[in-house]
Amino acid sequence: MLFIALISCNSMLQPPRFISLLGGALATSILLSGCLGNPPSRTTTDSKPVSIVANPNLETQTISLGFIPILEAAPLVIGVEKGFFAKHGLAVNLSKQASWGAARDNVVLGSGGGGIDGGQWQLPMPQMISEGAITNGKKVPMVILAMLMSQGNGIAASNSVKNGNLSVDLKTSSPGFFDQFSQKQGRKFKAAYTFPKANQEIWIRYWLAAGGVNPDQAVELLKVPAPETLQGMKNGTMEAFSTGDPWPTRISKDNIGYLAATTAQIWKVHPEEYLAVRADWVDKNPKAAVALLKGLIEAQMWLDKPENKDEAATILSSRKWYNVPLPVLQASLKSQYKIGASGTPETNLTMGPLYWNSDRGVISYPYKSLTLWFLIESIRWKFFPGTLDTIEQARAINDKGTREDLWRQAAKEVGVPEKDIPKGTSRGKETFFDGIVYDPENPQAYLSALKIKK
Ligand code: CA
Repeated sequence: MLFIALISCNSMLQPPRFISLLGGALATSILLSGCLGNPPSRTTTDSKPVSIVANPNLETQTISLGFIPILEAAPLVIGVEKGFFAKHGLAVNLSKQASWGAARDNVVLGSGGGGIDGGQWQLPMPQMISEGAITNGKKVPMVILAMLMSQGNGIAASNSVKNGNLSVDLKTSSPGFFDQFSQKQGRKFKAAYTFPKANQEIWIRYWLAAGGVNPDQAVELLKVPAPETLQGMKNGTMEAFSTGDPWPTRISKDNIGYLAATTAQIWKVHPEEYLAVRADWVDKNPKAAVALLKGLIEAQMWLDKPENKDEAATILSSRKWYNVPLPVLQASLKSQYKIGASGTPETNLTMGPLYWNSDRGVISYPYKSLTLWFLIESIRWKFFPGTLDTIEQARAINDKGTREDLWRQAAKEVGVPEKDIPKGTSRGKETFFDGIVYDPENPQAYLSALKIKK
């Protein structure tokens, strides 16, 4: 049973309205000390209470964010547990979302309506929530504030298709496999993701299409909630699954399947999931938004340090957060993978989850060139006809939904060296494993170069 004490300088006890809304989900325990001479006291939760450093400059002292228990959410969890948000005066109420659809529905409600103000997202979910394309037409403008993590995702394949020897480069490793599968099984190969028309579906589509496999013809794509994937792969619900760790690592550690490809192999230092918040919250609370980013940046720097990986794994593995065996999270945070049907061990920190540093600069910065890519891929696959059909529409949607200025301010205030703060909105040209180049200055050339599309 979680108990929440929320004490602020303005009101002794704000109604902890979100307790009932979270149900069995998580809530952080928050103590705001230093006000009215209140001595810090402990709550009855099983975690250490974090003292919020009073910051009267902030428009609000709380924000409610949602997360999905995969590695992408680690900076949010660590920001709460290690007190990085509290240090900047912000109490982050972090609640586990039952699914991506639940997160979407909760952000439409907003914290005032019993939901959340924002949180962790696969792209282009926040842009499409802004446009009303995945919310039954209800437009809830959102802004992207930071990238949470790069890499750390993968495509796991079932042991039942070990003979297919699926790898990142299907043309080389598995020529003709998918057609042979259909002929032999009398049905198509099933490939799953956790939410349609977002990151995970985009990765699996990119991978198949780069291998000459048309994802709309040669396979069956389906949505499966992450917790059902272990059993689903065992009983043949699907042959492949695209998601963030710990799931691919669990599948290979439990000997249910193997890691066919990592997203880092598909596109090194690719954009993955993002922190995005309702625009009305950011407009009303710009200083608190900067405080949120300051805590996030510090959490990402902390997570990236090799000496902190074990502690991070211990925190994340707990029942309160991910409830996943510790060795699984240790392996995935330390980039200890077993790659391919042969299960070749590979430890390469540059190919695992990245939270801060990379050879392409800081991970956290919300480059518009990268958030645009998900919209361009959405055009490629005709995900949102009527809302997103042209590159001009993609640019307009992207421009209004990304706030790089707040990130720069936060980075400056938290002491990020000037050289690490990007000056522009583009990370430049991006190259995929199959040689395709995405030039954000010319997305049409990218679309034209792709052989398989809708
Ligand atoms: Ca992901």
